[in-house]
Amino acid sequence: MSLAIIEKEGLHLFVAELLRQKNTVVGVKDQSAVSSIPGDSGFYTYAPINSPGEMTLSFDVTLIPPKKYLLPAYEQLLTFNLSPGSIKADAPKEELIIFGVHPYDIIAINQMDKVFSAVPQDNHYLERRKRTTIIGIDSVKVAPRAFWSSMGADTVAGGFDLMLTDIGQCYVVDVGSKKGASLLKMAPRTREAAPAEVKERDKVRAEARKRCDANRLSFSYLELPSLLDGNEEHVIWEEKSHLCFSCGTCNLVCPTCYCFDVRDDVSIDLKKGSRNRTWDGCLLSDFARVAGGGNFRGHRADRYRHRFYRKGQFIYRRFGDIACVGCGRCSAQCPSDIADPVAVFNRLKEGI
Ligand code: SF4
Ligand code: SF4
Repeated sequence: MSLAIIEKEGLHLFVAELLRQKNTVVGVKDQSAVSSIPGDSGFYTYAPINSPGEMTLSFDVTLIPPKKYLLPAYEQLLTFNLSPGSIKADAPKEELIIFGVHPYDIIAINQMDKVFSAVPQDNHYLERRKRTTIIGIDSVKVAPRAFWSSMGADTVAGGFDLMLTDIGQCYVVDVGSKKGASLLKMAPRTREAAPAEVKERDKVRAEARKRCDANRLSFSYLELPSLLDGNEEHVIWEEKSHLCFSCGTCNLVCPTCYCFDVRDDVSIDLKKGSRNRTWDGCLLSDFARVAGGGNFRGHRADRYRHRFYRKGQFIYRRFGDIACVGCGRCSAQCPSDIADPVAVFNRLKEGI
């Protein structure tokens, strides 16, 4: 399909039209004004918007990835009642448009689609995914800790309905699905992109990639599974994990981490209740605790090492994906600054 153009003022009208048609639109909000911490530069977050002016498309990275709308941090899966004896699954019903998703986060969503489609399928996730429209935007601003250019995540070929690139005076739009094509009809004054505009898009992408290259892996990310082979006893795991608080932040902010815990909450008379799931994280001390009190990753260094193997080897062996897209969130938000995959993987490569 050929590329289209939306003029800058047309985009506002497009978003206003989406909202007018009673769609729930989630966009990126700039939270710098809300921070009360002196010197805090603020952060960006995905949240529902009521008008086009509330969202920005010019952001580097959000605090939490858009996965929170596909796999909520807390979710009721079903309710049960012993009299008259019924189980009712809570199926997601909301239609959602997420506006402004960077390629690395779309790649992470594509990975979750694969994981939750594998047997046994996760119907709650898949139903939400079916009801979610993704409008991507190419990254122009680069977060200080980002390294998506060295993880093959600077652009994405699929998984979006529309993909926008800001080329200055207008947006170049790539249509990724039938849903995207019909949405685009709501945008005013669209037209086919001229060859010069397509060239400009490639230039914008190349410049962003170059900026991101300032922080990069010293080798191809496809070497990660073999690099990790034989490094299970490397001193880095003990050395760095001494500073780990086991807070789980690196898991919770990661767009490719999807582990959850499931719990039944039962009424005091044991007659009714609900089954709920919440995010979990392999860095948390009780993540691998099992019935009887045993914990097969009770040692902090084992949990710390597990995350890097999960990113660079375990998911690759099962699903063929390297489960790090280089967003840099873990690295930026770890209170001890020990979670950066670039620092760890480059050191393993150097063999020191
Ligand atoms: S491991 Fe870190 S850099 Fe990689 S995708 Fe997860 S949060 Fe982003
Ligand atoms: S964010 Fe840092 S301190 Fe917290 S669990 Fe992860 S590695 Fe440890």
